[in-house]
Order: sequence, then structure tokens, then C-alpha cells
Amino acid sequence: MGTKYVYSFNEGNKDMKSLLGGKGANLAEMTKIGLPVPPGFTISTEACNDYYVSNKTIKPEIVEQIEEKLAQLESELGKKLGSIENPLLVSVRSGAVISMPGMMDTILNLGLNDNTVVGLAKATDNERFAYDSYRRFIQMFSDVAMEVPKYKFENVLDKYKEQNGFKFDTELTTEHLKAIVEEFKAIYKAEVKEDFPQEPKKQLMLAVEAVFRSWNNPRAIVYRKLNDIPNNLGTAVNVQSMVFGNMGDNSGTGVAFTRDPATGENKLLGEYLINAQGEDVVAGIRTPQKIATLENIMPDIYKQFVETADKLEKHYRDMQDIEFTIEKGKLFLLQTRNGKRTAKSAINVAVDLVNEGLITKEEAIMRVEPNQLDQLLHPKFEDKSLKEAKVLAKGLPASPGAASGKIYFTADDVVEASKDGTETILVRQETSPEDIEGMVSAQGILTARGGMTSHAAVVARGMGKCCVAGCGEIKVSEVAKTIEVGDMVLKEGDYISLDGSTGVVYLGNVNKAAADMGGNFEKLMSWVDEIRQMKVRTNADNPRDAKAAVDFGAEGIGLCRTEHMFFDEERIPAVRKMILSNTVEERVKALDTLLPMQQKDFEDIYRVMGERPVNIRLLDPPLHEFLPQDDETIAELAKDMGIEPIVIKKRCEELAEFNPMLGHRGCRLAVTYPEIAVMQTKAIINAAIAVNKEGLNVEPEIMIPLVGALNEFRTVKQTIVETADEVIKAAGVELKYTVGTMIEIPRACLIADEIAQEADFFSFGTNDLTQMTFGYSRDDAGKFLGEYVDREILEKDPFQVLDQHGVGKLVQMASKLARGVKGDNIKLGICGEHGGEPSSVEFCYNTGLNYVSCSPYRVPIARLAAARATIKNPRK
Ligand code: PEP
Ligand code: MG
Repeated sequence: MGTKYVYSFNEGNKDMKSLLGGKGANLAEMTKIGLPVPPGFTISTEACNDYYVSNKTIKPEIVEQIEEKLAQLESELGKKLGSIENPLLVSVRSGAVISMPGMMDTILNLGLNDNTVVGLAKATDNERFAYDSYRRFIQMFSDVAMEVPKYKFENVLDKYKEQNGFKFDTELTTEHLKAIVEEFKAIYKAEVKEDFPQEPKKQLMLAVEAVFRSWNNPRAIVYRKLNDIPNNLGTAVNVQSMVFGNMGDNSGTGVAFTRDPATGENKLLGEYLINAQGEDVVAGIRTPQKIATLENIMPDIYKQFVETADKLEKHYRDMQDIEFTIEKGKLFLLQTRNGKRTAKSAINVAVDLVNEGLITKEEAIMRVEPNQLDQLLHPKFEDKSLKEAKVLAKGLPASPGAASGKIYFTADDVVEASKDGTETILVRQETSPEDIEGMVSAQGILTARGGMTSHAAVVARGMGKCCVAGCGEIKVSEVAKTIEVGDMVLKEGDYISLDGSTGVVYLGNVNKAAADMGGNFEKLMSWVDEIRQMKVRTNADNPRDAKAAVDFGAEGIGLCRTEHMFFDEERIPAVRKMILSNTVEERVKALDTLLPMQQKDFEDIYRVMGERPVNIRLLDPPLHEFLPQDDETIAELAKDMGIEPIVIKKRCEELAEFNPMLGHRGCRLAVTYPEIAVMQTKAIINAAIAVNKEGLNVEPEIMIPLVGALNEFRTVKQTIVETADEVIKAAGVELKYTVGTMIEIPRACLIADEIAQEADFFSFGTNDLTQMTFGYSRDDAGKFLGEYVDREILEKDPFQVLDQHGVGKLVQMASKLARGVKGDNIKLGICGEHGGEPSSVEFCYNTGLNYVSCSPYRVPIARLAAARATIKNPRK
């Protein structure tokens, strides 16, 4: 026997989704459990895929199987497709494996022609109904199967309504409808250059083919891309005998959710229309009634529907989204599926279902998408206001949330304007560490340049502040203090709104709704922590972010970037003196002023973190980033240092690099200026000694950045150990500390076994590792990565989602090499931005990392993703 391509509803079940599509599998399941489903059959996704392989033809074998099932259906119902006496009418609907609501096509009332319409009128004793069905069919068939524009038909309907002073389609008489049918057929003929097909089997095959084709219509392709649905799944086609909701006042049609998809409240929520067919509910021509009112109109049907909804929910053990039709006082179910829902609803439904004993905690965790949590953690725009808002431009969704404010172009202006409570947005070409205060004061940040791991993005995510980066469509003039978009010019003080979750920039002040974590969030997260087998830390470099992260459940700091601490207004002069010094002595003097400040930073962070581990990284960025830019600052600094401005300018020129990201940065700084590492080590160790005297038990983790050669690690480690041991000895205390390295250069991955011999831990810096593995500058890649992803040259932006295939292979290799020499005696973690991205978190778990570390607001997402990874694949 050849392949079976066509299945009657009573041959399948809910677990056959990949073959029968979601709708087909559920129709089969509902049939199986005895619910009133109009009979029919499903043409499998394999038939759809075969259609594409066979040069867009349906092969004879499949046609035969369709005809066979059709014959069965006819004999089961005692009706016949094309019969005048007792015509069978069917609906033809798409049904993908993963539901894609509204993306593909449906044809109703198939089987009608000039003869069967007469038969239908007789059989139902309702001529108006028959012609109304016929005109709907011609319209849908023409649109879906033959791509005749819908509006051509709508114009005719409008014309008749207008001529007769009617408001609703239901007011059209049988005679009107007959005339409309004739006009519709004429439109078809003019457009398709053929008569409207009268042969029902031909109609059927054309309709099936149209559904196959609709798998690749533009909106379906876009939807799949947005939702990560593979292109090769194909759609099934459901052919189902029609039941009619438009047969009078004892008929109707509707949709209902078994729980509220917005809030999760356990209450039936839905709408219906009396005397209408499915598309009328969606089309919004008439206002549907609330489902509860059905109880007054058809109490028996309502009771039956409530019982059925309950049965379906218990059967599927999840909230259902149900379509139904009432034909002459009889209830039929046309579809059920797990309902789409907001994050809040997802959490509430999942926790309630556990409490009701329907699902396990593990199942509840698998029902909440980690990325969905973002919706709860940040404020967002009100849906209504968003619809009315004017879109200005679109950039990268660098840090989620919603923000509105008056635009300012320098950090100082933002700080100044914010003093009286004015809402502000910091607009920059790109941000630099000096903008930090402006970023703190602003409601949101907009930059024209920079990617997802640019400074603006990383810092904003750390603060949980809304940020749209790399918005190439806008021209920012920091001198003129204007933004240009097309021919529109915005000036300082004009209002804009940013959606950091989508990257869209709106004109004006769009209304916001507050973040709402809801009551069951904590409950779900407590289950997440019970199950999770990988730790979640945070990237934080100040007590405020650290506190926020602990509140979100962080179990330590995985990366404290010390450079951010150097940009404080009070410190930057000392930092600059340190860099500009010509002698070691001068440099040490400058560093001595920084030491107590740096020590206090660490003490404050240790106190917030309590007993949780804290990993502090030595200075990483190229020194010139700290240098003064403008003449005024240079003059001030020169005066302070007692030298000529020209000397400073010269030194700045010396420090400038062609390729700073590949230049004098990371451990290379500590190798050539060991005094810096000495000062930082002293600060780290002194701070630990100080807080341990208060009763804590801090064991600092000291991390060396950007190691690529074993001797780099050895050299800097030696500086650290000598300094630390001396400080500890002088203090006369016991203090444990560890020394490890970032793994963020491909070469470090290749020699990971050698480094592991001498390192206590590795932390994968996948931002730099991605940059250096691909050879894409992380600050400039925004310019082309969008197009790369659109054109499927790359599947995803590798700075957002870890490239498991390439960069991930290096991570796996380094982990394996490290474990090979040290087993579990080396701690492995990740602190690149990928540490908060669900698919990357799962990868890290499967690679055997001990923890992931991410920005504070992504900590709950990482916790949930880690728990889901555990459920899928528990560690021994
Ligand atoms: C990294 O490179 O992944 C990393 C965490 O370091 P940074 O982003 O500070 O370069
Ligand atoms: Mg790095």
C-alpha cells in the first residue's frame, strides 16, 4: 500500500498534529470523545509537501484518496456533492501544525452552483438562505482560489445596500441576492477569463490547491518568521460538511475561550452572533453578543456549551479556544485549540491548573514562554493608544519597556531637564560611558548607531531602562540638536515614545500601562527554582542594579565590569591623570586616589549580595575611551596637572588606535600597566576583608579579561596573587579568593585545557567571542545584520541569540577541554548577553555550565529557561 494522505475525522487523534495539523488533529480528537463535530476528513501535511515537491500539482494518488473519503462522507450523511435533491456542502480550511490564526485561507459553502442552490433552497425551505450562501461562496472562492480582489465583490454589496437604504447584509432580499450572484459570476468571468466553475469536484480540487498555496502567502511567511515556525511543515486541509449558523433566529455562530486570555481568570469568555456565518463574527459588520447572554436566548444550548467547554478543558488540560455553530437549535463544534494568551494569563492559568490538579508543576513551567515574562517586568504601552500612535522609525529592540519624554541630545541636558521631573529621552548618535548619568535620568534612550551589544544596549538592559539602538532611519545632529526622519524635523524638547520591546519609535506621548507581575508569578518562580539545576547570576556593577537583580532572584554576580565605576564625575579626573601619566610613580599616585573609591564600590556591592558569590573583572576597555574629548575639559585637566594642554592632546593622539576593540585592552592593559591590576586587586581584597569583619563571608572571584595566551593569564594572575596575598597577610586575616578568566577570544577556546590547569573558573564572554569568531564588529554589525537576517543569510542576529553552530562549538570545545583536566573543579559560566536569552540558556545548560549571568531584568527569564532545560533533559 502506498502512503495514506487522507484521514477521516474518526481515524485520527490529538497526537497526530504533525500529520493532520492542529485543527485536523483536534477535530479528530473531538470526534473520538463523542462531541458533536460535523463529519469530514483531513488531507495531510505530507500531501501539501508533496504538492510543492511535485511542481505544484496534486498527484493522482492523492486525488483518488480524496475522492474515496468524499464518497464515504456522502454515504454517511446521505447527501451528495452536486446533488440537486440533497446537496452536500463542505468547508475547506487550512490547518497548520502550529496554529497560525488568520494567516491562511478558508472557503465555506463549497458545492454550490446554479443547480444545487435550488436544491439547497428546497431542502432547507429557505431560498434566501440558499442564495446568501451561494454569493458568499463565489466571493470566497474567487478571493482565495483565484485571487480576485475582495473589494470588487464588496462594492457590489454596498451598491445594493445603498440603493435600498439598507444598513445590514441581512436586510437584502432573495431577489437582491439572486441579482448579486449574477453580478458576482460576471466579476469572476471578467477577472479569471472563465465561467465560475459549476462542477463541485473541480471546485473542491481548486480549493484544496488554494489552501496548499496559502502556506506560502506573504502574511503566512511573515508570521512564521516572527514566531520561529519552520517553513517546511506544510499545512493540512480539512474538508468538513457544512453546518449553518445563518438559517434563522434559532441558528448562530461564535467563539469562546474557556478562561480569560488576557488575565487567566477562570470564566468563559466569548462572543456569538445569531443568524450568521463564521466570517461575520470576525468581520465586525455586526457587533457580537457576550457569550453569557446566550443563556437567556437558548438556555439548553448554553448549558450544553458550558459543559462541553469544561469537558474540553479537562480533556486537553489547558485553556481552550473553541469555535461553534448552532444550526436550527443544535450545537456543533468546529474547532478547539489551546488558546493564545498574554504572559499574565499564561502564568495564572498554569498555576491554577496545577492547583486544580489537572497538570504538574513541570507542565506549568513548560506552558510559560521565558521571553513572554518581559511583558510583565516592564511597563508597556496601552494597546488602544498604540493603535492611534504615529510611527516615526524603527531601530533595534535593545532594552525592553515603554518610555516617553522630551528629547535631549546630551547627557547634561537630560540631567538638567529631568531635575524638575520632566520626562526625557536621551537621543545620541551612539552612547559612550560618559553618558551614564544622562541614561540614569532619562526615561529612555534612543541611538542612531550601535547594535544589541553596544554600550547603550548593555547599560540600558542593566538598568532595566527602555532603549532603542541602531535606529539608522533617523539622522541625529547633536550640534543642531535635531532628529531628522524623512522630511520631518524634531527639535530639542519635542515628545517621542520608545517601545524597547519592538524597537519602534513613536511621535508624541503614548499612554502607558504599569508593569504587573501578578499574584501567581512568585508561585511559578518558586517551582522554577525547585526544579532548576543551573545557577543564575547577574551582570551588575553597582549596588542599585545588584539589588534589583537579587530581588529578581539572582544567585550571585557573574560579571562586575569595573570600567563603569570610573566614569563618575568625581573620579574621571583621577582616571585621566592615571592614563596620562608618563611615569609609573605618577600613575601610582593617581591610582592611590582611586583606590578608596573603588574599594567602597566593592564593599557596597558585597553588602547587597550578602553571601552570594561576586565575580569582579579587571579593567577591560581601551584606555583612550576615558580621555577628554573637548578643549574645555582638556584645558581644565591640564591646569590641574600643571602641564600644557598640548601635552595632553599629544598623549591622546598616542593612545588613539585604528582598531581599539582589537587593540590595547583587556588583560593587555594589566600586562603593560600592572599598577592598575594591583590597585584593583587591593580594592577587591580590602573590601572583602572589611565586610567580612562585619560578619559576612565573602570569597571574591577575580576575573582577567580577554586572555588569548597562557602566559597572559600567568603574568596577570601572578600580579593578582602577589598583591592579594600581601594584603591578606598584612591584615592578619584568612580570606579565600579565586582567580579565573573570561573566555572570549577564539584562541582561548583552543587552549582551554592549558588555561584551565591554572584557572579557578572560566566565564564565557560571548559578546566578544561572537565578535571575534564572526569577525563582525559588535558596534557596527547593526548596519548589515538586519538585512542578513531578512535575507536568511543568517538565521538570527548572533549577538542576540548564541550561534550554537559556530560560536557555540567553541564554547562546547573549551568546556570539554577544561572539564577534561579539572573535572568539576573548575567553575564554568557565561556572562555575555546570551546568558539571558532562552535558547542560549538551554544550550549553556546542555553544555554543562554551572551558571549563566545576565542583566538584572532578564534574571527571571533565565531562571525559567534554565528550569525548562532541566525538565527537558535532567542532569544526573
Ligand atoms: C563579553 O565579551 O561577552 C563580555 C561579557 O564582556 P564585555 O561585553 O564587557 O566586552
Ligand atoms: Mg568582552
